[in-house]
Amino acid sequence: MNSSVEIQCTACGQESLLKRVPRYDGFKKTGESLVCASCGHEFAGEPDVPFKEKRGPRVFDDSDRPKSAHVFDAHEADRLCRHCKHYVVNPFCQRCGLRSRLVEATDSCDRFEKRQG
Ligand SMILES: [Zn+2]
Repeated sequence: MNSSVEIQCTACGQESLLKRVPRYDGFKKTGESLVCASCGHEFAGEPDVPFKEKRGPRVFDDSDRPKSAHVFDAHEADRLCRHCKHYVVNPFCQRCGLRSRLVEATDSCDRFEKRQG
């Protein structure tokens, strides 16, 4: 059965199901209306139906993003300013004692020297 095809409706923005409603001319079936089960929006034709499968790659992009948010590999994380012996924290800011400039704890630089202990 094709009656429970998932769509991401462009009219109501909901994840919904595609309803195929037979169109009749008298007793003769002349075609199908493609209708959003949620809001009743009728799509002009099959190519206009926002099938979820077709949009799959875009949906999966979002769920993949957390993985790529881990931008630091282990090596890079070792060079973070907050692990550096020149990293100075006071109540108002964090700075690099070597370069005398403000840094973020997650900065890294090529003058990094690992803080002992
Ligand atoms: Zn809809």
